[in-house]
Amino acid sequence: MGESPRAAVQVIEPQFVIEGAGVLLRRSFGPSRANPFDPFLLFDHFAFNDPIEGPIVGFPMHPHRGIETVTYMLEGNTRHRDSLGNVGVIGPGDVQWMTSGRGIMHEEMPKRGPEGRVNGFQLWVNLPAAQKMGPPRYQEVAADSIPAQEQAGVKARVVAGRFDGVVGPVTEIAAQPVYMDVTLQPGTGFFLPIPAGHTAIAYIFEGSGEFGLDASGKGELVEAVKMAVFGEGDQLRIRAAPEAAVRFMLMAGAPFKEQIVPYGPFVMNTEDEIRQALAELRSGTFVKD
Ligand code: MN
Repeated sequence: MGESPRAAVQVIEPQFVIEGAGVLLRRSFGPSRANPFDPFLLFDHFAFNDPIEGPIVGFPMHPHRGIETVTYMLEGNTRHRDSLGNVGVIGPGDVQWMTSGRGIMHEEMPKRGPEGRVNGFQLWVNLPAAQKMGPPRYQEVAADSIPAQEQAGVKARVVAGRFDGVVGPVTEIAAQPVYMDVTLQPGTGFFLPIPAGHTAIAYIFEGSGEFGLDASGKGELVEAVKMAVFGEGDQLRIRAAPEAAVRFMLMAGAPFKEQIVPYGPFVMNTEDEIRQALAELRSGTFVKD
């Protein structure tokens, strides 16, 4: 077990996109056949920061197959309902980890919080071929059930994975994910082992810091709002800027290394499987339960 620090090899500037019924998002990456962030398919930041934008129309009823969608709210909330009969509200600090498996239909409607803003993230995680047609599953975790480790200038809310003996409540996910919300006080360092070969990414949404510190403690200065992608190695090393705290979502996971064919809300392994999903939608047999 060496300690090989991972450098920040790419910095991504999120692009504004419109999705659903006219929802403005900052998208760092979306599904593509090249699948460069395997097992992660998409990372969106809800960015409705201007109340003069008017009502938020959200994401009316739509299907998913072959993926997991993970919603994490900072401000405001998202009302949801689905074809399994689930209905609920994802509020600030809550997480919904939705495994679509063979098929789910759901509606996601963000609402502004008291300050007039909606702020949150949606991450898409791939499923391996053997689980794409498995049963749908929800893991809903309320904010007060997400453990926060606080020590020496580091606060980490652990949704999935482990930090300093704190284990996140979302488990039994094929991608073996780490997903946490990390805040570092000015000048504070953060080290985390991540297995060699796993994909590792940070989405910086407040402040700035040095990402991918090398043996001499030098890293890439990255400011909000941007994404830093880590290269090979087995340890993440990050340090907040001397004069500012930094906050970021950290994600890591094991790549499946399978061919993928994305099509809108579906991500399958072959074009035939996409055609089958579309045919089932047309014939009303998409939802199996
Ligand atoms: Mn959805």
